[in-house]
Amino acid sequence: MSRRGWHGAKARACTGLATNLGGTMSRVIGIDLGTTNCCVAVVEDGHPVVIPNTGGYRTTPSHFAVAEDGKRLVGHLAKRQAITNARNTVYNAKRLIGRSFDCPEAERARAMCPYEIVEGPNRDCRVRVAGRVYTIPEISGIVLREMKRVAEEYLGEPVDRAVITVPAYFNDAQRQTTKDAGRIAGLEVLRIINEPTAAALAYGFGRDEAEKIVVYDLGGGTFDISILEKGGGVLEVLATAGDTFLGGEDIDLALVDRMAQIFLEQEEINLHGDTMALQRLKDACEKAKCDLSHTDETEIHLPFIAADENGAAKHFSYTLNREELEEFTRELVEQTRSICEAALADARTEKEDICQILLVGGQTRMPLVQRVVTDFFGKVPHKGVNPDEVVAIGAAIQAAMLSEGFEGPLLVDVTPLSLGIATYGGHMARIIERNTTVPTSKKQIFTTTRDDQPAVKIRVLQGESERADENDLLGEFILTGIRAAKKGDPEIEVNFDIDANGIVSVSARDLGTNQEQSIQVNPRGTLVPEELDRLVEEYSADAVRLKDDPGG
Ligand code: AMP
Repeated sequence: MSRRGWHGAKARACTGLATNLGGTMSRVIGIDLGTTNCCVAVVEDGHPVVIPNTGGYRTTPSHFAVAEDGKRLVGHLAKRQAITNARNTVYNAKRLIGRSFDCPEAERARAMCPYEIVEGPNRDCRVRVAGRVYTIPEISGIVLREMKRVAEEYLGEPVDRAVITVPAYFNDAQRQTTKDAGRIAGLEVLRIINEPTAAALAYGFGRDEAEKIVVYDLGGGTFDISILEKGGGVLEVLATAGDTFLGGEDIDLALVDRMAQIFLEQEEINLHGDTMALQRLKDACEKAKCDLSHTDETEIHLPFIAADENGAAKHFSYTLNREELEEFTRELVEQTRSICEAALADARTEKEDICQILLVGGQTRMPLVQRVVTDFFGKVPHKGVNPDEVVAIGAAIQAAMLSEGFEGPLLVDVTPLSLGIATYGGHMARIIERNTTVPTSKKQIFTTTRDDQPAVKIRVLQGESERADENDLLGEFILTGIRAAKKGDPEIEVNFDIDANGIVSVSARDLGTNQEQSIQVNPRGTLVPEELDRLVEEYSADAVRLKDDPGG
């Protein structure tokens, strides 16, 4: 491998200096599909570069909206009109991707989001925007298509392949659905890679000695921590852990609740229930939160936020300081500690063995987050990469490695969640343990529980609970045609497979008859294949040229 290539990536990511990584211009893009923002990068003439959008911005909000005149908007344009058109503006779609409608996370999203979330036929979440129901991969697909357009405009030619990143903690349904979103966007997804792995790849630690590193990624919606080891031309993930519902947005909401409480005490007006006022408050809180990363005090000023019963306008004005922000959000940030502990235990690594801590995700700019990380690991995190861009840069490097033999380290990643099957009594039998290196496959022999039983039902689960019903049901299938035999005699071999994208497939074979069935694992929360094909076709013919404009 060309160690120069990998190190070059680091130099570029850290310093912004152009570094020749060798190789030809790549047309495969790397996309960081974020909860709040997206970033697209490409290796061009041997250099990984972040591609700015039409407005010159290096990240694009993951927002989609339908304006009053029926026009579809994406990116900055969609975000900018969110306050006045909250019900028809979808953001945070990544929180819903691959989730079943009745899961607690989706329930929470329904309570939080001003747009309407409805149930789809595969118990997936969908959103109703301006009277039309959109699937979540469609929304993410529209955002991805915009990133594709940004790249095409920059490169001056069509782009139809990409590497897309996901939180390391995404389960099978979330990964599959992200891949589906890519197809809807008109992109062949060469690989789904984990965000922290991409970040570590972009950093490209330039030393040959074995080193253990931590990628602490607190973004808008998710928290991930990965522990990696590099050396000898290999970048290996030892363990990963995370929470797909812990991020900057939760900090914003904690602050919104606090401010709404103050307003209630001052004016006896409850802002909860007034979508537009809440959206304005949320925007102001997020801005204040970001300000307080570099100043000690900031103003939240919202004129005409409400009216009293006589119609008199009410304004909200509050001086917020960093200490108060930290007081109301500390608990959320502290929650990341136990997740770090779990990852260290899984990696069989002591804090003292960690050489480097990389901070990724916009929320790591918060001083409180940096203090908690420093305190936990007993080490100051590495400063020097742009947390908004490093993941997309890593994805672009991986894209070039896959498509044009661009040389880089061998990536060895793990599955974040255990895979197993439901057994008698409602338990889960683990077949592949979490943090097993992927790709991987494992076989297990099953049998019948009754004489002459013609079929067996196998329920494939993903998750860490001992109880079957507390894990994600990836799919269930019935293996038929089992020869008549005494109970316990037939041998049914079930093969569980996780590919390099972290996507699961399962097949089963009756060893007596050699009859095989391969099972399409179509987890709840994903699209059924027919609908996906229809959407891919619809959007490819489509013409929704979603134009972003300058600004933001
Ligand atoms: P990401 O998903 O990585 O784009 O992270 C977005 C999150 O980072 C959002 O919740 C932002 O509010 C938050 N964020 C961005 N910049 C800052 C900042 N300067 N201080 C605190 N949080 C920030």
